[in-house]
Amino acid sequence: MAGSPVSARKLEGKVAVVTGGASGIGERTARLFVEHGARVVVADIQDEAGARLCAELGGVATAVYVHCDVSVEADVAAAVDNAVAAFGSLDIMFNNAGISGPPRHVSIRESSVADLERVLRVNLVGPFLGAKHAARLMVPARRGGSIVSTSSAASALSGIASHAYTCSKRALVGLTESLAAELGRHGIRVNCVSPAGVATPLALDFMGLDREGFDRAIEAMGNLRAVGGAMRTDDVANAVLFLASDDARHISGHNLLIDGGMSVAVNPAM
Ligand code: NAD
Repeated sequence: MAGSPVSARKLEGKVAVVTGGASGIGERTARLFVEHGARVVVADIQDEAGARLCAELGGVATAVYVHCDVSVEADVAAAVDNAVAAFGSLDIMFNNAGISGPPRHVSIRESSVADLERVLRVNLVGPFLGAKHAARLMVPARRGGSIVSTSSAASALSGIASHAYTCSKRALVGLTESLAAELGRHGIRVNCVSPAGVATPLALDFMGLDREGFDRAIEAMGNLRAVGGAMRTDDVANAVLFLASDDARHISGHNLLIDGGMSVAVNPAM
């Protein structure tokens, strides 16, 4: 039996918004989306880096930068509206912006409600707003769509991150499942990816390490993973590309762990 044709460029004609697109996983994903034929809106609070990336990606014909704090509804609404204004549609919403919050060792006894709210505001309310405004455009456009969010391996392994970060990322899995159920009837798929240990500014800050120390720490964690070796932004971007593309047309409500099998190997909290 013949299979579906293999498409080399998986996002030809699609338009995507990538939040947190100026750095790390978001930056790599924006690049990969463009390599696969998409036009992208890069939404971030790092204006210089975001604008530089968009210029590199081909400028206004291919990539547009917008300042967007994902915790501010008007910014998120404007970012998705920008996709339609610049490129005529919105097909993919990648809710990727996130912050690490307090380090893991900070006890709840030393935490404030403000600490918790700050993390939830970016890591949970941000994707909520991204999905809400993406759906506002995708549903009436009647061309389906794909919403992907970046959760974390902390969604499966509570011991690897702070309580604030862990509950923001686990709640994001719940939001993903709930929205997959709601939006499926409009042809909109909703999934998330859950990486662990990719050397980005957020991860270095989170572990309080420089790049060398981070690589040593990952090496030392080798026996806690089913599959060893350093993880790269590519490893996450490729998974996001898959979920965003029609290759995943029957996948919705899924949390794709990209953790080298850590969550099934050993729980570092034990
Ligand atoms: P990063 O620091 O390279 O990128 C994070 C980006 O988010 C930055 O460009 C930053 O400016 C942006 N950002 C932060 N707050 C924002 C806000 N309020 N509005 C808009 N943009 C904002 O780090 P990264 O590792 O690429 O992080 C991307 C996502 O991956 C985050 O959601 C993070 O929680 C998640 N994650 C990363 C790892 C890892 O090992 N690196 C593991 C699990 C989950």
